[in-house]
Amino acid sequence: KSSRWDSTENESKHLPIYRHKAKLVQAVEGSTFLVVTGETGSGKTTQLPQYLHQAGELSNGKIGITQPRRVAAITVAQRVAQEMQCTLGREVGYQVRFDDCTSQDTVVKYMTDGCLLREILADPVLSQYSVVILDEVHERSLNTDILLGLLKKMFSDPAKSTKGRSFPLKVVVMSATLETDKLSAFLGGCPVFAIPGRTFPVTCTFGTAVGPKDVESTGYVKEVVRMALDVHTSELAGDILVFLTGQSEIERACDLLFEKAESIDYRYDVQDQTVEGLLILPLYGSMPTDQQRQIFQPPPSRIRKCVVATNIAATSLTINGIKYIIDSGFVKQLNHNSRVGMDILEVVPISKSEAEQRAGRAGRTSAGKCFRIYTKEFWEKSMPEYTVPEIQRTSLTAVVLTLKCLGVHDVIRFPYLDCPEERFLLEALKQLYQFDAIDRRGKVTQLGELMVEFPLQPGLTRAVLKGSSLGCQDLLLPLAAMLSVENIFIRPGNPEKQKEADKKHRALATKSGGMNDFATLLSVFQLCKSRPSAWCKDNWIHWRALKSAFSVETQLREILLRLQQVQDFPVETFDGNKSELFRRCLCTGYFTNVARRSVGKVFCTMDGNGSMVNIHPSSSLFDQEADLNWVIFHDVLVTSRVYIRTVCPIRYEWVKDLLPKLHEVDVYELSSVARQ
Ligand code: ADP
Ligand code: MG
Repeated sequence: KSSRWDSTENESKHLPIYRHKAKLVQAVEGSTFLVVTGETGSGKTTQLPQYLHQAGELSNGKIGITQPRRVAAITVAQRVAQEMQCTLGREVGYQVRFDDCTSQDTVVKYMTDGCLLREILADPVLSQYSVVILDEVHERSLNTDILLGLLKKMFSDPAKSTKGRSFPLKVVVMSATLETDKLSAFLGGCPVFAIPGRTFPVTCTFGTAVGPKDVESTGYVKEVVRMALDVHTSELAGDILVFLTGQSEIERACDLLFEKAESIDYRYDVQDQTVEGLLILPLYGSMPTDQQRQIFQPPPSRIRKCVVATNIAATSLTINGIKYIIDSGFVKQLNHNSRVGMDILEVVPISKSEAEQRAGRAGRTSAGKCFRIYTKEFWEKSMPEYTVPEIQRTSLTAVVLTLKCLGVHDVIRFPYLDCPEERFLLEALKQLYQFDAIDRRGKVTQLGELMVEFPLQPGLTRAVLKGSSLGCQDLLLPLAAMLSVENIFIRPGNPEKQKEADKKHRALATKSGGMNDFATLLSVFQLCKSRPSAWCKDNWIHWRALKSAFSVETQLREILLRLQQVQDFPVETFDGNKSELFRRCLCTGYFTNVARRSVGKVFCTMDGNGSMVNIHPSSSLFDQEADLNWVIFHDVLVTSRVYIRTVCPIRYEWVKDLLPKLHEVDVYELSSVARQ
């Protein structure tokens, strides 16, 4: 096998994990569960699967490695394919939602935790795998936490865990932090393998500028840019890693940096005369993969690299050569908002442990420096000690349905590493009942069995299934695809250009009949099928996002066809026009998101929370409020106000029979079943 290795082999021999290869393989062989810990960058993710693959017995089946983030799954698989000198998708592959790059030959498979959860639905004992590695467990993503519980449960019943298997399954749990005692205890006191790592000291300094006020004005972007330039001009050679929260912010910071870096005079302004330029690289989830690859390449000589990244660079991906960290102190996080009763992506202060993790990235190969733009006071007063696990702060609807379909009926007494609040579980049960996915006794209905097959949020799935019963899946499938990809409409930062983009988008909305944002999405999908990419550019539409929407639509269609072949689908008829048909289907999935205009431009939601909301300016219904009465909406944006986005008008009659469901069920009735 060694002949297939190239220079990356030498590189990988220098990773801290290399010296422990034999012992590690032994430890995996010797125990059902193993916890592996080690500093970020020690080689856990890229090397361990290769070691296990080379070790005879453990390669009887596939080796699966889960990641909470899709970008991590993809980039790491690319790297490992390169190290093993094979084509990506052959021996080494990856699978993330809507993107499967594996084949019959794939033996080392990187995937998101959500994908493995889906595989368990189809094959509860994971019979094809000899090793499953749950990676980045310290991130405490919802799906990883559920997988931990499921795997624990699987082995608590020996008869079940071996049924239908021809070789044993080993489970490795990897975590960057030292919170391993808790993991080991959870997994029945399993062994812990700690990879000793070298780290170098990192000096951290606090800033003077950023306080809690700056979250809304995003004043921290400017501060981060100022700091990065300061480091570039006054510090010795070494690359910079900047932490921000998301794509638009990162693009803006890169633009600003680029502009300012242009005017540097390297003869006078720069301290270190070996530095002669700045290479600015963004890094975020929805970036094209060829661009992502650049991140890992060393910069040309005498050029300093500056990577502006989301939290993904904190532990999932390691970039060599980083000596300076600029930490904005913020992260984008999905949180359940009880004010509006929905999950909302919001920018929040990071935890102190997260800040330590970020700083640590500067000390991998030599001593480094971390510049925090926030004050010591912000650290003390606004930053929590630890990040709350996702399972304790987001909607559990989809996960509870998955558990129920796996035969876990008592979702309250499931083995959770950290228990979610009971009210979140009850909320999930209630929503599933409202969508007809479970019955009053908490049992999965036929519709629920269908719903779980779709990698979409339950409400949207409900609408798609209604559409297929009514024979209008051609309207609902493209819509679902468009709602599943990010940023179809480009909104440039420059105010002039923004105006131009808004105008083009409004024209597209009018073209689709106007006054219905869902219909606009559908119409853009259909229009773009026959338009070249130049047309998209001209209309400020993200060509790449659209292309993925096309692919998502095909995949959703395949799922639907497959289900239609094996199950009886209810067939319904409808007489009325297409626009009404479309909106009625939407109502079956979005009756939880109904709002009625109360006064002026303000609407009131009908979900029992009675939140006061406004239509977001990006909607084609904005400024048309006077003509509206009842609307449904796709999501909510909370700033100083609560905005609803992607909106369409409906008639009260269409939801009249559905709305009572929101109040009908007594959650304790559902929970008493759950407790049985
Ligand atoms: P860990 O999982 O312990 O944090 P990794 O296995 O991710 O460590 O990283 C080991 C090394 O592999 C690091 O030096 C990292 O820079 C390198 N590496 C990982 N992915 C890539 C990639 N896509 N391209 C180049 N180098 C990579
Ligand atoms: Mg890793």
